[in-house]
Amino acid sequence: MATFDAVFVGSGINALVGAALLARDGWGVCVLERNDVAGGCIRTSHDLTLPGFTHEVLASWHPLFTGSAAYGELKDELDRRGVSYVNTDLPTGSAFPDGSAAFITGSLEGNVAEFDRLAPDDGAAWERQFNAFMANADLSFGILSTELWSGSGLALGRKALRRLGRRGLLELTGTTLLSCRDWVVGTFASEAAHGVLAPWVLHTGLGPDQASSGFMTQVIAAALQLGGMPVPVGGGVRLVEALAAIVTDAGGEVRLGADVKRILVAGGRATGVRLADGDVVAARRAVVAGVTPTQLYGALLDRSEVPAAVAEAAARFRYGRAEMQIHVALDEPPRWRGPEAERLRRCPIVHVTPGLDGVSRAVNEAERGLLPAEATIVCGQPTVLDPSRAPAGKSLLWLQLQELPQGPLKGDAAGELDTGDGTWTEELREAYADRIVGRLGAAIENLGAATLKRVALSPVELEALNPNLVGGDIYGGSCALDQNLLWRPLAAAPGHETAVAGLWHIGASTHPGPGLGAGSGYLVAKRLTRPPLTGRLLARLPGRA
Ligand SMILES: Cc1cc2nc3c(=O)[nH]c(=O)nc-3n(C[C@H](O)[C@H](O)[C@H](O)COP(=O)(O)OP(=O)(O)OC[C@H]3O[C@@H](n4cnc5c(N)ncnc54)[C@H](O)[C@@H]3O)c2cc1C
Repeated sequence: MATFDAVFVGSGINALVGAALLARDGWGVCVLERNDVAGGCIRTSHDLTLPGFTHEVLASWHPLFTGSAAYGELKDELDRRGVSYVNTDLPTGSAFPDGSAAFITGSLEGNVAEFDRLAPDDGAAWERQFNAFMANADLSFGILSTELWSGSGLALGRKALRRLGRRGLLELTGTTLLSCRDWVVGTFASEAAHGVLAPWVLHTGLGPDQASSGFMTQVIAAALQLGGMPVPVGGGVRLVEALAAIVTDAGGEVRLGADVKRILVAGGRATGVRLADGDVVAARRAVVAGVTPTQLYGALLDRSEVPAAVAEAAARFRYGRAEMQIHVALDEPPRWRGPEAERLRRCPIVHVTPGLDGVSRAVNEAERGLLPAEATIVCGQPTVLDPSRAPAGKSLLWLQLQELPQGPLKGDAAGELDTGDGTWTEELREAYADRIVGRLGAAIENLGAATLKRVALSPVELEALNPNLVGGDIYGGSCALDQNLLWRPLAAAPGHETAVAGLWHIGASTHPGPGLGAGSGYLVAKRLTRPPLTGRLLARLPGRA
């Protein structure tokens, strides 16, 4: 029986970062992945469409990773192992049905000029909102990078109170509850400004009318200007391989085809895991599970190890809207229509959208079980940043549709497609993809003629690739306020510590939620390698560093 200091269940970004940090600290680490590739939602494929095309099957854009504390700490080691990022000064834009477009650039001056173009005074409004956000950016980003259910969370609250006073703190907390709609409409006059910001709220797992989506939109607006839209040259596989190499170079193991079926507990403490083939991997100090609460509390732990309140809360854990991916190999770069064709061509992510109300309508239709009539098309153009992803002269598109129903389909808001018994069939998937590609063809004039091959993945197929994507929810559980921040994953089991000693919960279902920021893996690794209390108290004595 193999024994390690720490055993990780799953090889998502949080597990790989957590394992790499522990391995660097001298821990013996084992990462167990059920698939035959590591990386979870980072899944680079060289054979999805045609030879020579490198597709990010799932996650593609790395601003959360390059802006993370984990990258800050691991950058030198990743650089040494060949991970290199490319970026842009024009991260995103929205293409509207009338042929107009709006953009967010990578500089304050660029955004002031662009928003002024959209409406007089909207440039000044951008500058005001950016400066106001930055004045408390340490608090806002702190909420998303601190273990909130802990002394550090309390310390963050005290810092905010000292700086802002009671009234100021109340006011700031109130504004974090705003919806995206209320924030953008209250801040900018131009509908195009609303339409370039609102689609981004989908990338936080929310809709534009939900509480706290205004705060998330502000975080994203600042992050786009400050961080751009970096991607790793050659695809996310480079990052996965480098993180795995940090683990294995330190003597650890990343085992593929290792499906964990049970977390073993003795005397109230996690002692290891049992795999589907019966093999046991023992853990001396920690078992770290990068899975959903549904799997952790409903399948991996024996029912007798789970407090009743936690089991009940886990059974009630809600999953968010489903998603579909469409990948297109193109014979030549896309040619956008309209007066902004040149800037749209240079943008790695273009949202094809009617604007704020269009996003709101499509989200609402999806929430009601319907295929949206006019979905927001997230049109990713990775070759703009990394030409190595396609053969010379060719190109590819990464299309994402984030407004699909969780659970059985009840119908089609456009009244065109037959959703049958409510399940995703191959026929329905392709018919829906036809609708999307048809609409995109109105914005990209050569889309039809240049398409060499198209591959669509329905919500069911996404879940088959990764069981954490329940029902095709790419964010590991609804990010509605009652399941986010202090309340993620469960109010009955907040944070990352669990009721079982030595068992830690990480991944998108836990704070700070989904994305490639690796926040939960980082927080747990830091917690595990924190010196004991006496050491920390001694370090605070005068004269000690
Ligand atoms: C289609 C898509 C597009 C996205 N785009 C972006 C993007 O561009 N940028 C961004 O920042 N974020 C994006 N996200 C979100 C982001 O990728 C995820 O939130 C994040 O990668 C989740 O990481 P994780 O650590 O929770 O692990 P996951 O990526 O969920 O990986 C978990 C791994 O654990 C394995 N596993 C589960 N159970 C077991 C078990 N019992 N035994 C062994 N192995 C197990 C799974 O097979 C999987 O490989 C996207 C997600 C998806 C699905």
